[in-house]
Amino acid sequence: MRFFLSLLFILSTLSIQSQNLPNLIIIDSLESVISKIDTTQIQNNITSKNWKTTVYNPYKDVDVAYPIKLKFEDSTYASPMHKDKVITSRFGWRRGRAHKGIDIDLITGDSLFTMFDGIVRLVKYLPGHGKTVIVRHYNGLETVYAHLSRYGVKVNDTVAKGAYLGKGGATGNARGSHLHLEVNYQGESIHPEYLFSFNEDNKINAQEIWITSKWTRPIAHNSRRKSKIKPLTSEDEALASQIKKRSIYIVKPGDSLSRISARNNVSIASLCKTNSISRNSVIKIGQKLVIEN
Ligand SMILES: [Zn+2]
Repeated sequence: MRFFLSLLFILSTLSIQSQNLPNLIIIDSLESVISKIDTTQIQNNITSKNWKTTVYNPYKDVDVAYPIKLKFEDSTYASPMHKDKVITSRFGWRRGRAHKGIDIDLITGDSLFTMFDGIVRLVKYLPGHGKTVIVRHYNGLETVYAHLSRYGVKVNDTVAKGAYLGKGGATGNARGSHLHLEVNYQGESIHPEYLFSFNEDNKINAQEIWITSKWTRPIAHNSRRKSKIKPLTSEDEALASQIKKRSIYIVKPGDSLSRISARNNVSIASLCKTNSISRNSVIKIGQKLVIEN
């Protein structure tokens, strides 16, 4: 009897299995299923963490580890505007303040477009930036479009590379109409020209690019002069370039810590630290200071 029961059980299991067999045909479309899952996961990834739709920098609690590795699938970006890009101000130190983006000339009403595929994270008037659109992209980068005169998207919109975002203008703190474009990674603004050529070719400087802290520090650059750009394309290169070089500076008549700092592309904080002095220390002509950068 017991044998008969277990035979019955085995038979019923087999019949269930055979009933399920036709379902295997679904495997044919497995590839398309997988690709759908992947896209969804990527989208969830960029909106699952630090996705705040009302604050400019949602990464305040994140400590970015340098060098930053960035990957691009394409070799070109979509131009944010359909005309020649005339740069009026660069990433760098400007009138005693940090300029964390690049200014590109436009006429109020010119259409603006997203540089890459992504999801709109913020559409908001910000002090300084004026009407602003921020798009988060699938490699973790965010592009910021500021001083707009009109919005063309809303928060959480999915945008394809080259899609319309709104119209340029001069809202917020802007001297004349222009696009203030920022390229941010986890709240750190990267020198846009380190990543992209702003010529007509719309080239991305490298498919894999390593960013050292030099390329996120406006103090290390001048907004009126183009910095020498040689993208680091491997971790070894990036680590080697992070090794600080020391040189000696001899204090000249009329020098101050801020002047020495600006002329040697080094922060006052770093000057003070390497020379064990304070911001208020009196420096004398002929005094030797160590510059580390
Ligand atoms: Zn600007």
